[in-house]
Amino acid sequence: MLEVEDGSSCHFCAISASHAGPFHACLDCDSQSLHCTPCIVDFHSCSPLHRLKTWNGTYFEDGSLANAGLVLNLGHNMSTCREGGGKVHTHLVTMIDVNGLHNVRMSWCRCYGFGSLASEMFRLQWLPATLIRPGTAFTFRVMKLFQMLSHVARKSAWDFCTALLRITDNVQPDLLPEIYRSFIYLQRHWRVARGYKRAGQIRIKEVGMTPRLGLECVSCPWPNKNIPDNWKDDTDADLIYATFIAVDGNYRLSRNNKGGGEATDPSYVGDDGFYAPNEDYKEYCRIRGGADDEIADITCRGHKSGDATRYNNSPRKASSGLVCGICARSAAFFHHGTVDLAIGER
Ligand SMILES: [Zn+2]
Ligand SMILES: [Zn+2]
Ligand SMILES: [Zn+2]
Ligand SMILES: [Zn+2]
Repeated sequence: MLEVEDGSSCHFCAISASHAGPFHACLDCDSQSLHCTPCIVDFHSCSPLHRLKTWNGTYFEDGSLANAGLVLNLGHNMSTCREGGGKVHTHLVTMIDVNGLHNVRMSWCRCYGFGSLASEMFRLQWLPATLIRPGTAFTFRVMKLFQMLSHVARKSAWDFCTALLRITDNVQPDLLPEIYRSFIYLQRHWRVARGYKRAGQIRIKEVGMTPRLGLECVSCPWPNKNIPDNWKDDTDADLIYATFIAVDGNYRLSRNNKGGGEATDPSYVGDDGFYAPNEDYKEYCRIRGGADDEIADITCRGHKSGDATRYNNSPRKASSGLVCGICARSAAFFHHGTVDLAIGER
């Protein structure tokens, strides 16, 4: 370690007299050798989200590629500029990647016909927090990482943002910009956009389209997809090519009435996802409302689920529980296979 931290020369251009000044080590390149300022900027022209340590003569202090002079050029090639390169702006953006926060200085041309800064950032797979002159952006990498951490490791967005701040500065994380609010907002957009992308939708809420965001179970038998064409000829077809549906509910998973409900905070996904369309479900409840088996005595003695005294039917609750239909083989949730309950498990 001490050997690679020898701060006396640039490991790349040690013999070049044109390079001088402080030496830098990149924490995110796999080579830990030291470089002078022009070399480190040159190496990182396409990797602006690497962290630097800069040798100040006594110790390695935190540096950055923006301070070393790196400017990321976005947009068109200057030779195609319609204004002769006269409308080039530089802009400092706070970027959040899996290795912490970065300041990135970028230049982009605002001549007629060329894209906005936000659209140029999307091309780099960066997600800008605002569309007009974005000052903060997240990489697709960090969005993907958090989505996986929240599904698999059950991490909250707050913990994740705190970890990113502490990776950047573990001594005074409070002095760094606040990222939590924009992160949770963008993460919600990210998930919706990914859901529609997976469903093959280019535009969200395209007129005349009824996307299926809930994917089909891959282990269930689907004619013309994963079973023989003559599957009906099999004498045991009913047994072999069957989908086993398990239905279970949770009548404690209640949701309070908060704010103005759907009118003021409409769902991004609407009826395209796992919930059954509200109108269809209401109609079903209306038709089934007086059915004999609905009003009959509970015959399964000892089952707590149908016991009216146990469920919460308060008017403050938007729903008093939830019922899902899932594939009993592989626990895949069905498209339109989930409903809210109004009164217990009935
Ligand atoms: Zn690097
Ligand atoms: Zn050098
Ligand atoms: Zn231009
Ligand atoms: Zn299945």
